[in-house]
Amino acid sequence: MNVTLVQGDITEQRTDAIVNAANSSLLGGGGVDGAIHRRGGPEILAECRQLRAGHLGGGLPTGQAVATTAGLLPAHWVIHTVGPVYSRSQDRSELLAACHRESLRVADALGARTVAFPAISTGIYGWPLDDAARIAVTAVRAAGTSVEEVRFVLFDAAAYEVFRGQLSS
Ligand code: ADP
Repeated sequence: MNVTLVQGDITEQRTDAIVNAANSSLLGGGGVDGAIHRRGGPEILAECRQLRAGHLGGGLPTGQAVATTAGLLPAHWVIHTVGPVYSRSQDRSELLAACHRESLRVADALGARTVAFPAISTGIYGWPLDDAARIAVTAVRAAGTSVEEVRFVLFDAAAYEVFRGQLSS
């Protein structure tokens, strides 16, 4: 698998799937989640509501992943995953790794070969970028997957540099 990096907006990626840093309600939020629903149109939220009405009645648990249409976005699917909120007193790294692993498992089930990830948990959820980058890169490298390209999409130059440092280590 190739791990690649771009600085940019995840909603513009022409990958088979893009990953959403969602919250467990699946009903929208800020950051990446807000951008995906804004640009992708109402079809994505409609599918999320159906999931909530069905087997995800209690919401999507942290560390798990589920797919919907990508609506008007150039990707085919959005894979929603819920990152852990950063905690100083509790090590939640395994849950952050699980987001990456589970998203790739869902991608495999869809037949997606190219998948774009944002820097999950590093926005509203407060995870320090360098630590999140280490966990993310380690998790995707260790995942047994048929995905051929994992593309990390970093919104700003600082995040891009941190991920670049991790990839070359
Ligand atoms: P979380 O709640 O998991 O922390 P956020 O969406 O708040 O998720 O932020 C995750 C990361 O995504 C942050 O580093 C943020 O700067 C970045 N980000 C925000 N909008 C976009 C976007 N449109 N494309 C790519 N990355 C984005």
